[in-house]
Order: sequence, then C-alpha cells, then structure tokens
Amino acid sequence: MDILIAGAGHGGLVAGALLAGAGHSVTVLEEKQRDALGHDWEDRFTFSLLCDVLKIKESDLPADVWRVRGDCTFVSPDKKTHVDVHFPEGAEQKVMWRKPLLRMLLERAEKSGVRFAFGTRVEKPIVKDGRVTGLCTDAGSLSADLVIDAAGVFSPVRQNLPPESGIEKSPARGELFYAFRAYFDRKDNVPVPDIPFEVYLRHEGEAGLSWFCTNPDSVDVLIGRVDPLTKEQIDGHLQGFRTSHPWMGERIVHGGQYGFIPVRRPLTCMVADGYAAIGDSAFMTTPMNGMGIDLSLRAGKLLAETVLAHPACTAADLWHYNRDFHRLYGGDTAKNEGLKNALLTMPREDVDFLFANRVVESADLAGAGQNMTVSALLGKLVRGMRRPAAFGKVVRGILRGSRTQKLYKKAPEDFSPDAVAQWSSRINE
Ligand SMILES: Cc1cc2nc3c(=O)[nH]c(=O)nc-3n(C[C@H](O)[C@H](O)[C@H](O)COP(=O)(O)OP(=O)(O)OC[C@H]3O[C@@H](n4cnc5c(N)ncnc54)[C@H](O)[C@@H]3O)c2cc1C
Repeated sequence: MDILIAGAGHGGLVAGALLAGAGHSVTVLEEKQRDALGHDWEDRFTFSLLCDVLKIKESDLPADVWRVRGDCTFVSPDKKTHVDVHFPEGAEQKVMWRKPLLRMLLERAEKSGVRFAFGTRVEKPIVKDGRVTGLCTDAGSLSADLVIDAAGVFSPVRQNLPPESGIEKSPARGELFYAFRAYFDRKDNVPVPDIPFEVYLRHEGEAGLSWFCTNPDSVDVLIGRVDPLTKEQIDGHLQGFRTSHPWMGERIVHGGQYGFIPVRRPLTCMVADGYAAIGDSAFMTTPMNGMGIDLSLRAGKLLAETVLAHPACTAADLWHYNRDFHRLYGGDTAKNEGLKNALLTMPREDVDFLFANRVVESADLAGAGQNMTVSALLGKLVRGMRRPAAFGKVVRGILRGSRTQKLYKKAPEDFSPDAVAQWSSRINE
C-alpha cells in the first residue's frame, strides 16, 4: 500500500514507523527542513509512551534532553488564591526538549523504512468520487491509497476536504490558543523563593492563561490567549512578570516563538475514504492544558493497527480507529472543555470567588478523566451558594463535560454517514 503522511507530526511519525515496518511504502511530506523541525522548548508528556514507540527503556533516554518539573499551582485572576496540584513520587511531571523528541521519532521512522521529503509543502488533498486519492504539493501531485493528515491545527488537507466528508474544517473562537513562549536568563544576585510552576488563569483579566516556571538556569514564560497576541501585549506581560519575579532577566535563551494550540474536544469524525487525521490536525489535545503529545502517540499506534487490520482504508474501515480513539481517550480528554469554557467566559471576579471558596479545586484542574463524586458536588454547592450565577455556570460546565465524555464513549459501533452526523451533532451542540 502507498501511504502519504502530510506533515511530520508526532502521531503521523508513530503510525508511519509501524506501517513501514509492516512492509508498506510510507512517505512523509514536511514543509520544514529537517533541522528546523520542532520548537525550541520543553514539553510535558508520558515518557513511557515514547519509549514504547522507540522500543527502549526509560533509563535509556539521554539524560540531557529531559528533567523533572515540580508541582504546579493555579493562580486566580486577582492573584490572591493559589490552588496547588501535587504530583506524588512516581507521578512527577517530566519535560523533554521538543527537538530531540522529534529527532528520536524521526530516526525510528527512518529505521523502519519511512521516506521523508523535507521542504515539501502540501497544498490540498486530491479527491476522486469522494475518496482522498493523494496530495497536491508545491513539488507536484502524488497519489496514495491512504493519506494520513499529521499537518497540525491548520492542516490544508483537512481544511480542503469536501463538505460531504462531515469533517469540521476550523476551530471556533475560544477553541484555539495563541501562545508566545520564551525562556529568559536569570539575574545573578537576586534571591529566588522556592515556588512551584505557576499557571495564571485569566491573567491580567484577559481571556486565556499565562505560566511562569522558575528553572535552575532560566525562567520559562508562556502567554496564551484565545485572541491573537500583539507584540505590545506580550512586552507588557513580560515586564509585569519581571516586576513580580525580579529574578527574570531580559535575554531570551530558548524559544521566543509563537505557537497555536487547539484547546477543544477532538474532531468527532476524523476519517473519510482514504483519509485519517491525527494529532493537532484532529484537535487531539486536553482542552484545559493544551497537552497533545500523549494523545498523538497513542493515536499513532491505534491508527496503524486499524490500517493493518483493514487495508482497504474506506471510511468504514478507518472508523475502527476513530471509534476506538474516542472510547479510549477522546471522551476523557473532551471532558474538561466544559469547565475551561466556563472559566474563560465568566467575569473574572466570579473566577476569583470560585477559587477563594474552593468551588474549583485541585482535582478539577488536574486534568481529564476524574469523575466528580456526589459528596464533592455537595461540598461545592455549600461553598458556592453565595454566588449562584457563577456557581451554576461552573457546575454546568463540569456536568456538561461529563455528558460529553459519555457521548464520546458511545461513538457508533459501525460507520454510516447518518449515524456519525447525528452523534457528532449531539456532541457539538
Ligand atoms: C506553546 C506550546 C506549548 C505546548 N506544550 C505542550 C506540552 O507541554 N505537552 C504536550 O503534550 N503538548 C504541548 N503542546 C501541544 C503539542 O505541540 C501538540 O499537541 C503536539 O505537537 C501534536 O501536534 P502534531 O504533532 O499533530 O502537530 P504539529 O506539532 O503542529 O506538527 C505538524 C507538522 O506538520 C508540518 N506542516 C504543517 N503544514 C504543512 C504543510 N502544508 N505541508 C507540509 N508540512 C506541514 C509542520 O511543519 C509540522 O512539522 C504545546 C503547544 C504549544 C504551541
């Protein structure tokens, strides 16, 4: 089978390695040059998933590409309340530089026989009689039995699929984070308190969040907003951090780049005849924190297993991947979109209240997949009663998230355009 992968996204590299290893012809078309791949910053993800792909032990990972990041604290908009999230021993947050992560995945793919065309820009899919049969690129057209779309959140493949595919084209406002991230030097002779990784919700009253992480040799600052960022806005926030954290220097030592993160539920339908989306191209991130690498690595394995078992690669064949992803991971990750949206759209004073009165707690912020017990809900009710509107909104957000989670887990067993459209519209409502 001839397989084309648009973009050297994480999930595409994993699927490509497994499919080439099983004897298929796989080519990755990547617009960047090899050395330019990946951002100049660290990411948190589950290392065992990477080691599983690389077939190595965690202890074999080079020591200079990763480190442990400590506990985390969420800071209310008025900065008066901190909600701490503690990661116990054995479950610490580990971060790895993006470039070596991608290099390891790429080398693994090459070793399995995947070919790479760097500096090749994919423009759109070729569609014949409703089936994706190849890709148009700036170097000409190429045909394929299967196109894997790993070209990220703005993928031109997904955006140019015919409407009959039923696949959403673009994220709506509030579903995409515009982020700036840079590591600055640390000033000598300025005392540094022992502070955790700080996440500022509705930072300075703006819709979005910022983080400030004090590393031994640098400070890592991220500014993420639901609307595009201006240079003046970023400079203002950086200056604000220098005032509140006087050990932050002026010189950028890593990063200093912009990025885009989907922060919404994953695409309900991410397959068509001859086509499968993966990673950011299918909006596979956790809405509350924008983490997408774990999901991409997991999806890569699922997609390869599906293709090996159903090589005709019709929408009905690829639905096995789509359905199983949602049942295993999509529902759990979609769950906290409701809370994220509630926190982003309510007046900031209400968010302050919810933090100060422990209506929003550590477990709500820690991530996806945690079910709220009745006693936890009652505790929130008692504490939140003094501001019923804000309380109602956040509880509705959490409950809506639980409903969405259940709906994802009830993805139709078999593919039919009508059943999938009906199920999708219930979720997207
Ligand atoms: C500031 C920031 C911080 C983040 N932190 C974390 C974190 O700590 N942990 C975590 O798990 N996730 C994090 N993420 C999210 C994470 O980057 C993504 O979810 C993850 O990389 C999966 O995306 P992907 O590999 O599918 O796509 P991408 O990483 O976007 O890769 C897509 C690839 O396709 C290529 N491409 C795009 N268009 C074309 C085209 N037309 N033709 C050819 N090639 C093309 C791109 O050059 C790129 O190589 C962060 C994102 C940002 C922006």
